[in-house]
Amino acid sequence: MGYSQLKIPKICEHCGKPFEAKTVTTRFCSDTCNNASLRLRKKQTLEEERKQKVLQESKAIIAEIQTRPYISIAEAVVLFGISKNTIHRLIRAGKIPAVNLGERLTRISRTHIEAMFTAVALPEQKPQEQQAVKLQYEPSECYTIGEVSEKYGISLSTVSNLIRRNSIPKREVGKFVYVPKEMIDKLLARK
Ligand SMILES: [Zn+2]
Repeated sequence: MGYSQLKIPKICEHCGKPFEAKTVTTRFCSDTCNNASLRLRKKQTLEEERKQKVLQESKAIIAEIQTRPYISIAEAVVLFGISKNTIHRLIRAGKIPAVNLGERLTRISRTHIEAMFTAVALPEQKPQEQQAVKLQYEPSECYTIGEVSEKYGISLSTVSNLIRRNSIPKREVGKFVYVPKEMIDKLLARK
């Protein structure tokens, strides 16, 4: 490419200032912006790599937990996205078999919680249109997350997880999330 006197108006990709570029490939207004952008991208790459590593590690941990018949309460929290309180309540209610091996050494049956929290995820595969139709619920036909939590005695985060896992249609109005009563009742009545 030959030398050109041409000045190309551009916007600096780093600081957003308009400037005149000497070539079409110039992306930054100055060396300062060029270097700053390079540093930023390097940092983002490192951050992304770190995240991926953490994700890989937690995947490995989860894969390992999934092979054991008995798991700790902390592991159940990770594996099923349910709160410690919920697990303790289920143990007290005799819904999950638990073995107490000592202080903080409670081991609970993975298969039992699995049956409790993942079996309900089965009706997930529904045709798209059916889902769309089901969004037509009157407010009186809906619960708020708080109502579901109260009615079934499960924590708010567990309710949110169940809704997400089961692709239950929800509608947000202000700070409230509404979900269809019949779908929630059907889902939770099985327990
Ligand atoms: Zn700049």
